[in-house]
Amino acid sequence: MPESSPSSPAVAAVPDGFVPLLVTDVIRETPDAVSVEFEVPPASRQRFRYSAGQFLTLSILIDGTEYRRCYSMSSTPSVGENLRVTVKRDRDGRVSNWINDNVTPGDRVHAAPPQGRFVLDASDREFVAFAGGSGITPVFSLLRSVLGKTTRSARLFYANRAESSVIFADALGSLSDRHAGRFELRHHLDETHGVANPESIESFLAGAAECEFYICGPAPFMATVEAALLAAGVQSERIHVERFASTVPELTAQDEAATVTEEVTIELDRKKVTLPYRAGYTLMQMARSADMRPPSSCETGTCGTCIAQVTEGAARLLNNDVLDDDEIAEGYVVTCQALPTTRTVRVVYE
Ligand SMILES: Cc1cc2nc3c(=O)[nH]c(=O)nc-3n(C[C@H](O)[C@H](O)[C@H](O)COP(=O)(O)OP(=O)(O)OC[C@H]3O[C@@H](n4cnc5c(N)ncnc54)[C@H](O)[C@@H]3O)c2cc1C
Repeated sequence: MPESSPSSPAVAAVPDGFVPLLVTDVIRETPDAVSVEFEVPPASRQRFRYSAGQFLTLSILIDGTEYRRCYSMSSTPSVGENLRVTVKRDRDGRVSNWINDNVTPGDRVHAAPPQGRFVLDASDREFVAFAGGSGITPVFSLLRSVLGKTTRSARLFYANRAESSVIFADALGSLSDRHAGRFELRHHLDETHGVANPESIESFLAGAAECEFYICGPAPFMATVEAALLAAGVQSERIHVERFASTVPELTAQDEAATVTEEVTIELDRKKVTLPYRAGYTLMQMARSADMRPPSSCETGTCGTCIAQVTEGAARLLNNDVLDDDEIAEGYVVTCQALPTTRTVRVVYE
């Protein structure tokens, strides 16, 4: 089937940069989580090569509205398996529940190619991961890479509310048996031990020396772990985090009223357009309103597809999970989240 003619009722026209992937399998992992396995069309296989820890952006049409959400691969590229994501229900969440309830083999789902910086460092230091709930997905992929492709030691602290919500319980148990002595697995269940606290993190770290730390899970869990690691003297460069930020802060009426911007200049694809600013618009919305086609994917400030540089004036970011302080100081912005804050702004897409 040509890539531009998807057959699933869940999808309409293929958004720019997205590819319809065939769902080959749907695996119920827990009552609240499902894995969806995809076949990538041959023409797109190169673009969909990925590193363990990266994520896809899916575009899902629900009742006529398109939603974009990021999902980390739970599959591991080095073992040659099909690309797979694992989606846990978010209470009252639109897309996660829709996927859990509706996706079946034979469907086609639109996806933008893999992205993300939560990938394995190049060292041979011990790999120490902290996962909470659905945060296990990229960690599972990373862990299998570490154990399968390197000689590094590994340990995983995996927090869940209850035993019934532990995703990949059997697979993790098998890994721990197969790599006994090299891989230490600790399940932390809130129903038994209460939520993870600094003491539980510290006790897990006993004996860890030269390590790289990977954290993914709910925001409060991540904050606890990060704080405990820093308090234990871990250098921040050794801490790698993936935030499953799902909801981007809404633009407030104050944001719109406070704008001083009159004019925005956008340079993209050798085209330069200057146009009057529309209050409340992000730089990406401004580019689109000028009939330009800026690169975009997740539209939550997470994937980095829409990065551009503000070369005159300034903009502030509603959400940013991609750029570091140095990049921000150089004027880089995720344009889907960038609100101009000066009278004139010039933004250049590279
Ligand atoms: C890089 C990355 C990787 C990710 N990987 C995974 C993964 O592997 N597996 C996974 O399961 N998830 C993953 N996520 C999270 C995923 O992208 C979604 O955010 C998640 O599935 C929730 O989406 P949803 O549409 O179901 O929820 P949404 O509809 O976006 O709602 C999210 C939450 O906000 C609440 N909410 C929504 N609107 C409002 C409102 N107006 N007021 C108050 N509350 C509101 C909802 O009740 C819900 O609890 C990842 C996210 C990122 C950024």
